[in-house]
Amino acid sequence: MKLHEYQSKFRFAEFGIPIPKGKIASSPQEAFEIAKEINGPVVVKAQVLVGGRGKAGGVKLARTAQEAEQLAASILGMDIKGFAVKKVLIDPAADIQDEIYLGVTTDRAARRTVMMASAAGGVDIEEVAATTPEKIIRTHIDPFLGLLNHQARIIASGIGLPHESWNAFIQIARGLYQCYLSSDATLAEINPLIITGDGSLLAVDGKMVLDDNALFRHTDLTEMRDTSEEAPAETQARQAGLSYVKLDGEIGCMVNGAGLAMATMDMTKLFGGSPANFLDIGGGAQADKVAAALRIILADPNVKAILFNIFGGITRGDEVARGILQALEEVPTDLPMVARLVGTKEEEGRAILAEAHMITANTLAEAAQKAVDAVQNSPSK
Ligand code: GDP
Ligand code: MN
Repeated sequence: MKLHEYQSKFRFAEFGIPIPKGKIASSPQEAFEIAKEINGPVVVKAQVLVGGRGKAGGVKLARTAQEAEQLAASILGMDIKGFAVKKVLIDPAADIQDEIYLGVTTDRAARRTVMMASAAGGVDIEEVAATTPEKIIRTHIDPFLGLLNHQARIIASGIGLPHESWNAFIQIARGLYQCYLSSDATLAEINPLIITGDGSLLAVDGKMVLDDNALFRHTDLTEMRDTSEEAPAETQARQAGLSYVKLDGEIGCMVNGAGLAMATMDMTKLFGGSPANFLDIGGGAQADKVAAALRIILADPNVKAILFNIFGGITRGDEVARGILQALEEVPTDLPMVARLVGTKEEEGRAILAEAHMITANTLAEAAQKAVDAVQNSPSK
């Protein structure tokens, strides 16, 4: 789950990181009021869950409250990389002398948390990593010791930060690590962390990604989820308790078990097809969950055929079959469907599906082959 810039920065502030004292607005009128209160130049910043807002015209400087109101009117409702702007952050404009990058993330290869910094701040860190990787300074953090002061100093020195800013930087680095840790985040990033004209440091942008698997420990953070910024299929899948990842192919897959779902996707590829999604309905799924999964698959306009691959253990074949039929009643479709159903109550399940004129298969290979054939023979091809 991603947090908006304002949510990330307000959270950073709780960990002692200095941020501009701005407020959030949903209308030009509110933007005007906030800018009037700030009583000086402000930046009007689009709040969307995607980076590069500056380049896309979503970050603008206003000298007066009237100008802030006008800019808010043009930015609110703007589309940035497919995301509609519904809120703007009004921050007092900062006096930027220099921009640096500071981030904390999970380094899976090292099995450690890593802190990264670069003197080339403000720009896309992926771009820095690709073109001038030597400009990124990294330090891995021991989970038992936490971020040590000398590590933060090595980073400060590595990015050529002036000495007078080192103490402030160490506080920010420690705060960011604590924020990352106590939020169960997978990313906490300040880009840019700026050096102002008077030599102080300020986090003018913020980004956080939280580990979905740890959200149950953070009701306060969970409430910050902005479902209006999510793909509807992802919201529905989460609410139904399904693991769903949308892909670009044409074969909608419904499978129970993550490993089996991966194998099903591989098999689809092997026979020359491409999966439209990864979807794991989980163990013991009952009819309503199957119906929810099918609705999600059918909502994807790229899907040309559906492949069910169900291995019944705790999950019962007849339950799954009934769920499929239930969903088909709600969302009728002419798409070809191939079902491989084995395990608990497989005969009952197959009998139910045969009545629904579904193509059945006994092995995974056969099912994948038939699904690929169905796509290739489909009239819309
Ligand atoms: P992003 O483009 O989505 O990463 O949005 P940022 O919040 O990082 O803003 C983009 C750029 O706008 C920053 O790198 C700064 O150069 C500039 N910017 C942001 N806030 C201010 C501000 O308060 N004053 C000034 N002068 N520039 C700002
Ligand atoms: Mn930024």
